[in-house]
Amino acid sequence: MSHVDVSQLRAKIRDIKDFPTEGILFKDITTLLKDGPAFRAVVDMLAGEYARQRVDVVVGIESRGFIFAGAVAHQLSAGFVPVRKLGKLPGKTIEVEYELEYGRDALAVHEDAIRAGQHVLAVDDLLATGGTMAATLRLVEQLGGKVVGVAFMIELAFLKGRDKLKNYPLHSLIVYD
Ligand code: AMP
Repeated sequence: MSHVDVSQLRAKIRDIKDFPTEGILFKDITTLLKDGPAFRAVVDMLAGEYARQRVDVVVGIESRGFIFAGAVAHQLSAGFVPVRKLGKLPGKTIEVEYELEYGRDALAVHEDAIRAGQHVLAVDDLLATGGTMAATLRLVEQLGGKVVGVAFMIELAFLKGRDKLKNYPLHSLIVYD
């Protein structure tokens, strides 16, 4: 385990005003990722939560989710499964549409990515409204996966994304109230 605590991690996240659109305070994680001990600490903390339970695959959500999900999967000796925007995965996929603040979006996963009964941990960089993760879990469950955990580095608690995910064990490292 590395000797970095959550308040030190929080200090490494950069706020960017009005990105990508006016009124959004964007949490820029590149300033944390480029710091070796900080990145290791995040991965250690996320993976550590699940070290004593069975995880067969870690699902990561395009694109910042991949950064953490891949590293956590490696640490847990689990497989990695990408959930991507439509048209990116080369094989046969199943898809799900979900609501955004303005309009709709869709996500896809390979239909053979998860076998029925496998224990799945889903990881993303940040929980905002929870729409992206809720849609991802619908894909996992459609394939018969059992969601054993949902993990985020950052939770914007004031957006109440947790409410959309209340049927699942949820863990986040850095919470903004
Ligand atoms: P949501 O579906 O609302 O929970 O949005 C989650 C996705 O949008 C995550 O994959 C984040 O990367 C991205 N996201 C939403 N809000 C922000 C924000 N304020 N700063 C950085 N990323 C964000």
